[in-house]
Parts: sequence; structure tokens; C-alpha cells
Amino acid sequence: MAAKLIKGAEVAAQIREELKKEVEELKAKHNLVPGLVTILVGQDPGSISYVTAKQKTSHELGFYSIQDNQEPDITEAALLALLDKYNKDPKIHGILVQLPLPKHIDSNKVLYGINPDKDVDAFHPVNVGRILIGNYAFLPCTPAGCQELIYRAYGDPKGKEVVVVGRSNIVGKPMVAIMLQKRVGANATVTCVHTGTPKDKMIEHCRRADILIVAAGVPNYIQADWVKEGVCVIDVGVNRIGMTESGKAKLAGDVDFAAVSEKASFITPVPGGVGPMTITMLMKNTVMAAKMAAGLVKL
Ligand code: NAP
Repeated sequence: MAAKLIKGAEVAAQIREELKKEVEELKAKHNLVPGLVTILVGQDPGSISYVTAKQKTSHELGFYSIQDNQEPDITEAALLALLDKYNKDPKIHGILVQLPLPKHIDSNKVLYGINPDKDVDAFHPVNVGRILIGNYAFLPCTPAGCQELIYRAYGDPKGKEVVVVGRSNIVGKPMVAIMLQKRVGANATVTCVHTGTPKDKMIEHCRRADILIVAAGVPNYIQADWVKEGVCVIDVGVNRIGMTESGKAKLAGDVDFAAVSEKASFITPVPGGVGPMTITMLMKNTVMAAKMAAGLVKL
């Protein structure tokens, strides 16, 4: 079977169109403009390109948005005071602090300094807890993007065997929590495998999966004989495996794409699969945060 490609850029564009309409409606009906601040500390080139892309998308969607650049030597106390200012600003509904932060700043202290109702990355322990108990407004962007890709391309995972490879706090664990929920787009039987899982057991679990979500950070790890015919494969991995002739980074996912595509029904490419969804989900969270602040949705 030659798998159908799940094209993240197309799904992301579709969701952004839906969000644009929602933002217009919120403005017209409720005089509500979603507000997002992205805080960048220092001049890391990767971080600059991420915050630039986030700002560009938020402008395109009609948000009120602020790019707040801080010097690399800002103190932790000053950064916390800045967060406090945005926590109290009624025009700002989403606060994003671009990681990594300089070494003299405790990232956890900073992330925990964001009001959970404005924590559009959903990394604050309050939001992690809300997700686990199923009473949440927003989800961490990458696993939320995976859920959208599954739901829109493959269909509702209700009752399916979902296997998640990896248990990081930003992808694997929240992915498990999302897929477990008794909700549309979830309600699956979920297994999580990791480095503590013996390899033969891991392969056994992967072979049972109707939906296999891989976030291990190991290039071309998942082999064709580890999956069953018709599986839906979501490859979160982004691994640099060298340089192209034109000097660009050569990327590979965590799945042996060519071989696994022959057995899967759906598969995400790398690049162009999960990656394009992440910023769009941040925008979705910001719209949700604005609606919560206006009392239009309640937890
Ligand atoms: P991470 O923090 O390094 O976590 C990797 C997880 O995979 C860990 O739980 C680890 O187990 C597990 N693991 C590692 N090697 C394994 C193996 N051989 N067998 C089974 N499990 C294994 O990475 P992450 O932040 O979750 O990211 C994972 C991948 O997704 C990376 O390639 C990253 O670049 C990519 N990513 C992409 C996006 C996107 O937008 N597309 C966003 C985030 C991450 P232990 O817990 O036992 O160490």
C-alpha cells in the first residue's frame, strides 16, 4: 500500500482560514481582539526566526500582537516583572517566552511566572494538570497539531490502538494525555513506549498500533517490519543528518519514510508534516485564551 501523505502545511492553512473568520466574528460581535506577546531574550538566530514567524502569522490573523525583545543580560527578576506586566494587561491574552533562555535565568521559574490562563504554550504545571483531568482550554502546540492531523486526515481515533514512542514533557506525555480524553478526536486506547521498554516489547507494541505517533529524536528509527498494514503514522521527529549540496540542513524524521510508506495508509513527511502545524496551534490557543478572558468560554 502506498500511503497518503498528510500535508501539514495544507491542514495548517485550512485551520488558519477558520481562525481568521473566528477572529473577524469576535471583533464584530464582541469587540474582542486576541492579543499575543512574544518575548525574545537575546539574539539566537533560531529563536529570532521562530518569533518572527509567530508574529507574522498573528498579524495575518488580525491579532493585536507585540514582539518584545530583551537584552541577553536581562535579570531573572526583571523578566518576571515583565511577565507580571503582561499578566495584568487586558489587551494581552497569550504570553509566549521563546526558549531557550540564557543560562543565568531559570526557565522553569519564568514559565511558571506566566498566568496559566495566558500560557498559550500550555507548559505551566496548572495547564499540564488541567489537560490530564480533561478540563482544559488549550493544549501544547506540537501534540495538539498531531491530533488535528489525525482527526482531519485519518478520522476519529475513538477506540483505536494508539502507540506513542517517546515520553518528553513537550510531546510524548501530553500526546498520551490528549489521546486518552473522553472526547471527539481522542478516546483511544493508548500505549507509550520509551527507553525503558525492551526493544522486542517496543516492536510488539508498535506492530499493534492503528495510529503510531513517534517523537523519539532518533533518525529513521521505526522500520517497516515494526508496523502493520494500514497504520496511520505521525512522525514528529526532526533530525539533522547532514547538509544538502546547497548548504541547507538535511532533515530526517524518526521513521524510515520510504519503507514504512509502503505499508501505512497515512503518513506525515519530514519536513512538511507536523512542523507546519505548531505555530497554527499557538494561534488557536491565543484565540481560545481571548474567549476565556471575555467569558465566552469557561473551564
Ligand atoms: P526528547 O525530549 O529528547 O524526548 C525523546 C523521548 O524519546 C524520550 O522520552 C526518550 O526516552 C524517547 N526515546 C529516545 N530514544 C528512544 C528509543 N531508541 N526508543 C524508544 N524511545 C526513545 O525529544 P522531544 O522534545 O520529545 O522531541 C522528539 C523529536 O521530535 C525530536 O526529533 C524533535 O526535534 C522533534 N520535535 C519536533 C517538533 C515539531 O514541531 N515538528 C516539536 C518538538 C519536537 P526517555 O524518556 O527514556 O529518555
